[in-house]
Amino acid sequence: MQTSFSLAQLADPQTAESEKILRTCVHCGFCTATCPTYLLLGDELDSPRGRIYLIKDMLEGGKAATAEVVKHIDRCLSCLSCMTTCPSGVHYMHLVDHARSHIHETFERPAGDRLLRSLYAAVLPHRGRFRLALMAARLGRPFRPIVAALPGIGARLAASLDLAPAGSAPVARHRPGDTIKPAASPAGRRRRVALLTGCAQQVLRPSINEAAIRLLGRHGVEVVLPQGEGCCGALVHHMGREGDAHRYARANIDAWTREIEGDGLDAILITTSGCGTTIKDYGFMLRQDPAYAAKARRVSELALDITEYLGTLELDAAVRTLAGPLAYHSACSMQHAQKITDLPKRLLKEAGFTVRDVPEGHICCGSAGTYNLLQPELAGQLRARKVANIEKVRPVAVATGNIGCMTQIGLGTAIPIVHTVELLDWSRGGPSPRGWDIPDAMVAAPASVEAPLSPLAAALG
Ligand code: SF4
Ligand code: SF4
Repeated sequence: MQTSFSLAQLADPQTAESEKILRTCVHCGFCTATCPTYLLLGDELDSPRGRIYLIKDMLEGGKAATAEVVKHIDRCLSCLSCMTTCPSGVHYMHLVDHARSHIHETFERPAGDRLLRSLYAAVLPHRGRFRLALMAARLGRPFRPIVAALPGIGARLAASLDLAPAGSAPVARHRPGDTIKPAASPAGRRRRVALLTGCAQQVLRPSINEAAIRLLGRHGVEVVLPQGEGCCGALVHHMGREGDAHRYARANIDAWTREIEGDGLDAILITTSGCGTTIKDYGFMLRQDPAYAAKARRVSELALDITEYLGTLELDAAVRTLAGPLAYHSACSMQHAQKITDLPKRLLKEAGFTVRDVPEGHICCGSAGTYNLLQPELAGQLRARKVANIEKVRPVAVATGNIGCMTQIGLGTAIPIVHTVELLDWSRGGPSPRGWDIPDAMVAAPASVEAPLSPLAAALG
């Protein structure tokens, strides 16, 4: 694609980067076929190619964002399905990130929109505030019809009530500052990793990290939860709040750097693929910051999804598995952003699980950070489509690696949605995944998983 930025514009490193990305697009349109919003809306401006044109026009003209541009960029999930499909290697993620921050700086959103976005930015990244907000949402649920009728923001506020889990938020067993030593260390060099506790996941489902800690400990890995670490910045980053995202990134980099330069770290592990995507991008995000660029690069190089690290260990043989098939839902941040596709399925299969792919597995479930809060109608359509596809493979449970997808899909189906690491831990003797007390009739010995043991399992399979 030809561009016509002025030399003065290209002196800005972010614009120079976006210009480079724009030039790689050959406007072939292949990406439109796999874009969820284009599939739903059929409008070229809600396709990657259409958005690329809008972004080019906005940045080239040095213009403030218009309401029309904002509408189409806001509808983008940042699912990055287009990056998987694109034959030219267009880095849409960095381009749309730039567009979102440009919108944040130049566009005056309606008051209700501003209020909601400020509220989410102030609450979601903080564990304590988020816990209080979940309590408030539970108390507010009986008033949902009144909330939904509020002009401008009603539907979005009602969506936040729907997304809050019914029961009270569980308490995490481990806290930042804890170091969890393995029961026994195998011969050779000691392995030591940091595990991201982050924000929302640790409030909604701390059992995920607890399963990871047990599984790592069983294999001789020491796990540290560094003091000072918190939200990775993804939630605010997706809202265009670049300054806030960089603040969160720097705090995490400081926390991990203390560990790297102290007792050392083999890896920084993440159990939420949305956060993993952002942390792996810290090196790019802070490339212009002389004080942090090198440290950010080092952190990004050490960042791994939990499955990537487990793939480097010789895991013990599983002692039990499920007597029925699992559907594996690959989060967009896992498959499109981090390009981790087969590994989680391989780990599950090695533990004896029967794993089935979900039809249209490349299409987003509608979670996408704060998307299901800000675009509830489109997110709801995507959830219904995802659930219908999951149900086609008749699984006894769905395994995935991202808390956002678990919350989003869980609202649309009674099938248990569990984290991959919870299943891997359970298969080695850990407790049942939270919220799903696996009945004995559904438990099988690993070798017999292909031949369901019970009529219940056979019916479900
Ligand atoms: S597939 Fe890639 S090159 Fe083709 S229009 Fe989409 S972004 Fe541009
Ligand atoms: S990130 Fe997803 S929603 Fe956005 S343009 Fe690409 S495919 Fe479409």
